Amino acid sequence: MKKQTQAIHTAFQHPDTYGSLAMPVYHTAAYEFGNAAEMADAFCGRSDSPDYSRVTNPTVTYFERKVRELTGAAHVTALSSGMAAISNTLMALSATGKNIVSSRHLFGNTFSLITQTLARFGVGAHLCDLTDPEAVRQAVDSDTCCIFLEIITNPQLEVADITALARIARELGIPLVADTTAIPFTEFNAHSLGVDIEVVSSTKYLSGGATSIGGLVIDYGTTEGFAERMGKEQLFNLGAYMTPHVAYMQNLGLETLHARYRVQAANTLSLAQALKSVPQICSVNYVGLPDNPFYALAQKQFGPTAGAMMTIDLPDAEACYRFINRLRLIRRATNLFDNKSLAIHPASTIFGPFTAEQRREMDVKDTTIRLSVGLEDPDDLLHDILQAVGATPLS
Ligand SMILES: *Cc1c(COP(=O)(O)O)cnc(C)c1O
Repeated sequence: MKKQTQAIHTAFQHPDTYGSLAMPVYHTAAYEFGNAAEMADAFCGRSDSPDYSRVTNPTVTYFERKVRELTGAAHVTALSSGMAAISNTLMALSATGKNIVSSRHLFGNTFSLITQTLARFGVGAHLCDLTDPEAVRQAVDSDTCCIFLEIITNPQLEVADITALARIARELGIPLVADTTAIPFTEFNAHSLGVDIEVVSSTKYLSGGATSIGGLVIDYGTTEGFAERMGKEQLFNLGAYMTPHVAYMQNLGLETLHARYRVQAANTLSLAQALKSVPQICSVNYVGLPDNPFYALAQKQFGPTAGAMMTIDLPDAEACYRFINRLRLIRRATNLFDNKSLAIHPASTIFGPFTAEQRREMDVKDTTIRLSVGLEDPDDLLHDILQAVGATPLS
């Protein structure tokens, strides 16, 4: 079956008693057993009967299984947020005295997780330019426990050569961990590029219309001891498992992901192309534009589409505020890959708590507006942007 068919028709683990076409939502904390032996088997991992919904639930398991079959992964764990997926993964891989090699170009909370939260437990952060394999070689040492990257950084829109990073990780015998939130896992195969563990904020493309917060850890089974630590230790002790209602909504989102994503990516490309000739806009940054420095690498790694996140630069911060305030259709909101188009000025919001110096180091400019392009007609989006920058509508 092709992925789009599989995303819709993956069978339930057990046929539903009433023949429900949708995966039933098992809204229960606990499960009852027929006898003591069955109970013992479930608790000791000798059977897959669920016992308690902090660690297993049939609705969540169905969602996980669908993602596992779509990606070809060995194990998939659905968690309560993208940050739960990232923190659980990095906690499972690290320990006091170890270090994580990554970049300053990271989702704000991931940056803070690595440089503040994990630092308190004695985990080091070796931050370097992940687009420069030589810099990565300099950053790794015998205590490095993983290399962590985001496939398209936000808001810099930078793309690292995943195969080159995988080669370095393999030489050291450590896993390459990729946050693949920016392009759905149905569009490209991260494992074939050398990624060992994929983490995803399923809040974004998957949830479909921003219905819910969720995260996925997609483990290709190449990292020794990882599945055991995630599934048998952290799931129990950290308690961040996805809830059945969220799994129901995100499973529904996954069924329409392909159709939504293709329209959003096409809308983004057409908008980016149109905005390039608007004099009030200083620059348009989208990895899907052929003159973008990462275009060829992105096409090679992720295929013909380049996601639905783009940025525009305006002359100064005041122009950015004016733009945000004038928007009539595009919503003033954070979040990415909603059905609705969203705009945000990252420097004063997501990165507002950082100092100007830190923002400079992270390449977060005062002049940048980030756009997440939705499912609206692209002409309406173009019209809104043109009026908001004070340009004459094209027709
Ligand atoms: C949103 C996002 C996260 C965090 O996900 P939550 O579901 O909000 O916890 C992590 N990484 C990237 C790239 C994101 O866009």
